[in-house]
Amino acid sequence: MIEIDGSQGEGGGQIIRSSLALSAVTGKPFKITKIRAGRKKSGLKRQHVTGVKAAREVCGGAAVGAELNSSELTFIPGPIQTRDFHFKIGTAGSTTLVAQTVLPALMMADQPSSITVQGGTHNPGGPPFDFLERVYLPQVEKMGPKFKAQIESYGFYPVGGGKIKIEIQPSESLGRLSLMERQHKIKAKLMALVSKLPLHIAERELDIVRRKGKWHESECYPIEIKNSPGPGNVVMMELNSGNVNEIITRYGSPGVRAEDVARKTFRDAKPYLAWDYPVGEYLADQLLLPMGLAAAQGDASVCSEFVTGPLSLHATTHIDILKRFLDIDVAVDELETGVFHVRVNPASR
Ligand code: AMP
Repeated sequence: MIEIDGSQGEGGGQIIRSSLALSAVTGKPFKITKIRAGRKKSGLKRQHVTGVKAAREVCGGAAVGAELNSSELTFIPGPIQTRDFHFKIGTAGSTTLVAQTVLPALMMADQPSSITVQGGTHNPGGPPFDFLERVYLPQVEKMGPKFKAQIESYGFYPVGGGKIKIEIQPSESLGRLSLMERQHKIKAKLMALVSKLPLHIAERELDIVRRKGKWHESECYPIEIKNSPGPGNVVMMELNSGNVNEIITRYGSPGVRAEDVARKTFRDAKPYLAWDYPVGEYLADQLLLPMGLAAAQGDASVCSEFVTGPLSLHATTHIDILKRFLDIDVAVDELETGVFHVRVNPASR
């Protein structure tokens, strides 16, 4: 039984989700204690409970402590099942994070499957659906599996009501992924979404981002979302450099001026625009898991690598969790100030 301290490092939901994903793939049971101990509201939230339920369904596993606010969870995985799965979070909790919990097992299964998840599709603290569809999944596809991701309705915090579906064509083994540089100069697509709010909010946001980055009006897309039960506002800067696509996201909320949301989005994008590393902060922590699974197959030629900015606490915590489940080495070297080379290799024997 692998024992995990849920308060270590970043101490958030990612430790739980990654442990579930890795346990389902490797068949290794685990026990996690002090779940989200440092958070304002510690323990399992509804989104995490749904993640556990999803993992249990996908790998026919057993779980003890999978209740709301629980601070301990024991998970014993079983064999991977493949079918059309439906998971309902019941709040605006992140559908994309629940999806990322079960995708690793399903993308390495022996049969195709699909997952439909209901909840939030654009939530602070998780990847928006667009990031999953156009940033994360295209990179994982380069390793073998194929995906078709669709959004049926949008779910914003706090109302939720979103629905996403991902069809998975698995690959029993995973190939290597290398993202060492950008293929070409960034092409930008600037999007601002509004649901049940005036479109001028999106237009004002885009005007600010566009001016700050000296982009053209033709690169701006104010989008009115009609299929969401609640209000919402999201600014997304999609930065495409050929081999890698990044999306920098900020969420509007009541009492925060549209202009401030736009300024903060641009501020978040600044490091990625100023340097020329290909992999941004969030993609870095999310790619580590599929890269780790690929390396754990033990073939010395399957070494994945990427160049990124400073590793977040999410990323370093993720590396620790991966090493608990997988026989891999992860090397991180600083190439120049603030630019890092990450290599994920089978463990050297
Ligand atoms: P946690 O805070 O532990 O629940 O983990 C949050 C996860 O969501 C991490 O894997 C982050 O990379 C990811 N994430 C958070 N915000 C964003 C964002 N704006 N874009 C893409 N991914 C995000």
